[in-house]
Amino acid sequence: MKVVRSTRAMYAMSQSLRIGGGVLGFVPTMGYLHEGHVSLVQLSRKHAARTVVSIFVNPTQFAPGEDFAQYPRDEERDLALCEAAGVDVVFLPGVDDLYAPDASVHVVEGSLSRTMCGQSRPMHFEGVCTVVAKLFHLVQPDVAVFGQKDAQQLAVIRRMVRDLCFPVEILAGPIMREPDGLAMSSRNVYLSDAERKSALGLSRTLGMILDCWQTGEHEAIVLEQQARAHLARVYPAVQLEYLVFCDPDTLWPCDPVPAGALVALAARVGSTRLIDNILI
Ligand code: AMP
Repeated sequence: MKVVRSTRAMYAMSQSLRIGGGVLGFVPTMGYLHEGHVSLVQLSRKHAARTVVSIFVNPTQFAPGEDFAQYPRDEERDLALCEAAGVDVVFLPGVDDLYAPDASVHVVEGSLSRTMCGQSRPMHFEGVCTVVAKLFHLVQPDVAVFGQKDAQQLAVIRRMVRDLCFPVEILAGPIMREPDGLAMSSRNVYLSDAERKSALGLSRTLGMILDCWQTGEHEAIVLEQQARAHLARVYPAVQLEYLVFCDPDTLWPCDPVPAGALVALAARVGSTRLIDNILI
């Protein structure tokens, strides 16, 4: 496994990887890797001869006051996990290498990124799109793998790739969960024991919505009322930010809720903001 730390070296590396031929796969991450990230590497390795993983805590997708400084980092452990997962190249760029101090060109997605997480994090997806576009230029992947865990990010990236003609196929990996159902996330490390129990409210509420839907209740308003009542009763420490029923590609709200709909939520547990979703 090669470790590449500069943008120039990454570009040279991707040029040489391409000379040998074969599909090049890419998994962008912010590190502090868990089984969810590893599952994306496995998916990449199914579709690609070589896999590049980037580890970069991207400052431009955090607003002032968010957790950029506290975001968990463990480079040594991440490299060991990548090596064990069969990653070919790990790209660890520095902030100053990736961003000129007077950078003035940004990638703005003007529709999908306005709803859901975009409402409480208005600059977030601009930061995500900009960094992913840069990483695509440097790595030049044929396929890139993103997690269904960040369903809105997946939709936004797919839209960026379509609208800016990136020659990259986007693959989605399913959400990896802890045995009790909590979606794996690098941010779970912030949770105290009590908060960890409350955090289960997210996946349990999504499970309850799925149960209701399967018994024939397809009205979004009713499903939302039941979900909110369930959260308030069983998981009062969970502060729901949003709960949406929408099309997974356009993120347009849907009511009644059809099969294939995305049910996504964001909530705070203590000071930790968590997201989760299911596809009906
Ligand atoms: P992050 O390091 O949190 O920016 O995530 C990097 C990639 O891993 C993104 O495409 C995420 O959607 C994906 N990811 C994060 N958590 C999970 C999970 N629990 N299961 C599957 N993919 C995940």
